[in-house]
Amino acid sequence: MITRFAPSPTGPLHLGHAFSALTADALARKAGGRFLLRIEDIDTARSTPAFETQIYDDLRWLGLSWPEPVLRQSDRRPAYDAALASLEAMGVTYRCTCTRGDIRAALAAPQEGAPLIGPDGPVYPGTCRDAGHDHPGAAIRLNMTRAVAITGAVGFTEIGPLHSGRHDFAPDWLCTQVGDVVLARRDIGTSYHLAVCVDDAAQDVTLVTRGADLFEATAIHAVLQKLLGLPVPDYHHHRLIRDEQGKRLAKRDASRAIALYRAEGATPDDIRRMVGLDS
Ligand code: GLU
Ligand code: ZN
Repeated sequence: MITRFAPSPTGPLHLGHAFSALTADALARKAGGRFLLRIEDIDTARSTPAFETQIYDDLRWLGLSWPEPVLRQSDRRPAYDAALASLEAMGVTYRCTCTRGDIRAALAAPQEGAPLIGPDGPVYPGTCRDAGHDHPGAAIRLNMTRAVAITGAVGFTEIGPLHSGRHDFAPDWLCTQVGDVVLARRDIGTSYHLAVCVDDAAQDVTLVTRGADLFEATAIHAVLQKLLGLPVPDYHHHRLIRDEQGKRLAKRDASRAIALYRAEGATPDDIRRMVGLDS
């Protein structure tokens, strides 16, 4: 059993991250498995070395350890390019030159009705699907219709407490509710979805531990795993840590940063208690 914690160094780790990392580590211990750390720094404009250093520091302070060297997604571009190339060779991608504004305008057209919101935001209206763009700098999207013609239904097994059981997604549902998601952003040449699938497979991850906010995205990952011939891990999507108003913590909630609690004299056990874990 191998699980992982995969933070992005785009802000300080907060209580939600502490809960995620401690949950993954506890699951690994219980199963006699391994806990890995992966740095998800594909967004090089928002990631910083200082936040990365702080991640190592905060996690060690929490009592966690992991095998070195740590996999950093910024070193993995060739692997993402290779995965993209094989998807392109399968004919399930196309280049998209739409701006966010173009997409918003297309979705606002009266014949479109209320836009469907998928795991990745509004379902893409397909403007560029048959346009035959070949701009090297364009974004690359998954042609979901062609993808599901190859994969058929896809699914995964959730072993977390929230939606535990088997989840299967029919081709029609994937086309209408998920649609043509971006596989490679024009600015970074890859996407969270592609990178996470390639790396979980490369690291032999058997259990993906992460927040329930990513539960819906797992349908996308199941499609990519099947297309790329990657094993489908099990998933444990855990509850989200919320503030007193019931809002889930975001990167901007620096007031909940682990580093700040540390500076104020909190102990690792205090942090565990604050996120509802027995210490
Ligand atoms: N890097 C993602 C985040 O920090 C987590 C991705 C994952 O665990 O699959 O939100
Ligand atoms: Zn487009």
